[in-house]
Amino acid sequence: MARRIRNRSFRRGVYQKSLIESVDSYGSEICSPESKSSSVASYLERKANAERFALKVLPATIDSGKPMAEIRDTVILGSGCAGLTAALYTARAGLKPLVLEGHEPGGQLSITTLVENFPGWPEGIQGPELIGNMKKQAGRFGAEYQHAHLEAVEVGAHPIRLRTSAGELHARTLIVASGASARWLGLPSEQALIGHGVSSCATCDGFFFRDKDIAVVGGGDSAMEEAIFLTRFASKVTLLHRRDAFRASKIMLERAVAHPKIELRTNTVVDEVLGVDEKEVKGLRLRDVKSGERDELKVSGMFLGIGHEPNTKMFARQIDLDEEGYVKTTNNVFTTRNGAIVPGVYACGDVQDRRYRQAITAAGSGCMAALEAEKYLEEHGH
Ligand code: NAP
Repeated sequence: MARRIRNRSFRRGVYQKSLIESVDSYGSEICSPESKSSSVASYLERKANAERFALKVLPATIDSGKPMAEIRDTVILGSGCAGLTAALYTARAGLKPLVLEGHEPGGQLSITTLVENFPGWPEGIQGPELIGNMKKQAGRFGAEYQHAHLEAVEVGAHPIRLRTSAGELHARTLIVASGASARWLGLPSEQALIGHGVSSCATCDGFFFRDKDIAVVGGGDSAMEEAIFLTRFASKVTLLHRRDAFRASKIMLERAVAHPKIELRTNTVVDEVLGVDEKEVKGLRLRDVKSGERDELKVSGMFLGIGHEPNTKMFARQIDLDEEGYVKTTNNVFTTRNGAIVPGVYACGDVQDRRYRQAITAAGSGCMAALEAEKYLEEHGH
């Protein structure tokens, strides 16, 4: 009943405030007198669900007085491995998900090269091809894609309200799969030279460094992968790492160490990128963190491979984030606010995973988020 009344109001383009007046005994759902009993029932259902996980459930509210945008069953934020897997599952469940592709369509796989550890591809597969296949696969079952940036979100409202660069959207469930973006050193000279020899994407920009000497910063798998890839173009790649122990996997480190075009320098940090006045990278001012010794390295490019930062700015104060901005999830994909589950809002992939961060784990959590969204919609009669 509650839904019928709300839907009738939506058709007129507004929520009718007169119908939305009472507050239930939990002080949570605001609903019409007619809808109150079913709303309480749905609350109890959610509460029982939450209790399975020994968690409080966050009260939902209905906003009023604003023109209504289209209501989608599922909106997925992000079109990387996690988002596209969630799209595939929700599309196959007939939910016609809308995938919002932000500033990095396809996520990190779209700017990587050969992926050798995604099961099912014995010879490996190029990242962009893998992501293109996933997109096609979900599209075949009805997933829709839109290029849009999220500008604001209200997860406590029902439906969830999203303001995007392409307009306002309302969703019954939201899957946050917005991933993580490349991290920068934060030096003013580095920022001034982005696109003029400073890059965080070897596959995008490596081509411009044919027969040049370049540097890669970082000590993880990304840095190793970038350095190895860049040897296709560069005459020499100097890998700079701030410690003498590496995070990179043994196999990747060994490949980099064995490569004749790669030189490793450990305990070394970049203090300044040279060439700001000339508007192109001319070299790097380096410092040995152990000896304090400084020197200059003549290079035409600097590539960053120092990890990523989660794309969660829009969710600050909406859902719980950890100290580095990753979405805190409970029971794999449930989001929380002040420790209580936020109904209908799930997070998957790198935006909530600081530990595994693999294409296959992102895909797995995208599947989990989709199954939870389906279950939530089913339990709420959609
Ligand atoms: P990561 O493992 O977190 O490594 C980041 C590296 O950058 C670390 O060595 C870190 O140094 C360094 N770093 C961070 N901030 C820095 C700063 N401000 N200045 C200088 N150095 C800084 O990140 P990642 O390499 O992007 O890898 C992320 C995940 O993706 C990992 O699980 C990795 O295995 C996976 N991955 C896999 C592949 C593959 O299998 N083909 C390719 C890429 C990534 P410290 O060590 O001192 O902290």
